[in-house]
Amino acid sequence: MPIASVTQLKLAGKRVLVRCDFNVPLAAGKIADPARIDASLDTIRYILEQGGIAVLCSHLGRPKERTPELSLKPVAEYLTEKVGRKVGLAPDCIGDVTGRMIAALKPGDAILLENLRFHPEEEANDRDFAHELARGKQAYVNDAFGTAHRAHASTAGVTAFIPERAAGFLMMRELEALRAVTENPARPSIAIMGGAKVSDKIGVIRNLMSKVDAILIGGAMAYTFLKARGAAIGKSRVEDDKLELARELMAEAERKGVRIVLPSDHVVASAPEAGAASQTAAEIPADMMGLDIGPATIEEFKAELARARTVVWNGPLGFFEIPEFAHGTLAVGEALANLDGVKSIIGGGDTAAAVGHMPWASRFTHISTGGGTTLEYLEGQVLPGVKALES
Ligand code: AMP
Repeated sequence: MPIASVTQLKLAGKRVLVRCDFNVPLAAGKIADPARIDASLDTIRYILEQGGIAVLCSHLGRPKERTPELSLKPVAEYLTEKVGRKVGLAPDCIGDVTGRMIAALKPGDAILLENLRFHPEEEANDRDFAHELARGKQAYVNDAFGTAHRAHASTAGVTAFIPERAAGFLMMRELEALRAVTENPARPSIAIMGGAKVSDKIGVIRNLMSKVDAILIGGAMAYTFLKARGAAIGKSRVEDDKLELARELMAEAERKGVRIVLPSDHVVASAPEAGAASQTAAEIPADMMGLDIGPATIEEFKAELARARTVVWNGPLGFFEIPEFAHGTLAVGEALANLDGVKSIIGGGDTAAAVGHMPWASRFTHISTGGGTTLEYLEGQVLPGVKALES
């Protein structure tokens, strides 16, 4: 069912509960990376320009109760700077004091509610808590794509009490990008899969098989597939209990006419350590482990991508946290970013961490802000936070 965009709501004079994903990394009480806040600024500004009263809410971290270090205070200060008007912090997300602060606001004003997860009822999707959260709000906008895979009070339950609801600009952008991958993708369509474990990506591989022409596999998960094909993988990270599954997935791909492309060479070292002596090898020696895709594989992957019109990427192609083993991920990323005429959708989480800050990253069609949400969407699962927006 379609969902409405924030542009379809009449916002003037209304108190709008805006669920954002302000779950930013903190270092010594300061925001280490504001990307998630920045991603929702256009939605917030739009609501204020329309004369709405923006009542912003989010979780931060995983507190089970009130935890001062996980206060959203730094976020309120950052928003004040970026939105260009005072964004005060309410002492709580529900309750009389907060209610009075909201009631005093005028059209075009904004306030940030304190961390939703100071109340365990938030994650429990408690009905009474959701009702409290909804009290006094006339519209609801969800822009928290990164939390849309969870049915919490602020992402799902609250919509039972606020009939006027819509998705914010970030949520719309994220869903539109993912739809380009899953609904009639422009062909050839390619998935790049990497990361640590096959077991985390089984659902995605299965679901994408009916939507892509080829799956390029790198990262540690490639070694489970290679071992399943009988290749020597030395000491590489492998899931021995998933070898049969890897064989099944490869057989399923063959039946469906989807090519699975595995690395043909590797950067190997004796341990995943900075400064470890590394070399390129087509066959991994018994005392070495594969930590990145090798130069021949980089060229093979680039050639595949050059023919593609849709590319979705989930998971780094090597042990990218150590610069020596980040080259494959960065070389493939840069090549993909610079291709014209291809929709390139980069999954959140580790993939975004690996390539999102590179100077060429702005040339990707889309970099997701939600790792877990993107994975669940690509598995074909219904996102509760999106479902709740359907009218
Ligand atoms: P994931 O969370 O499944 O996307 O996995 C990301 C993790 O996989 C990162 O921490 C990478 O360093 C790790 N990784 C990628 N390639 C390798 C590899 N060849 N050997 C060991 N770990 C790897």
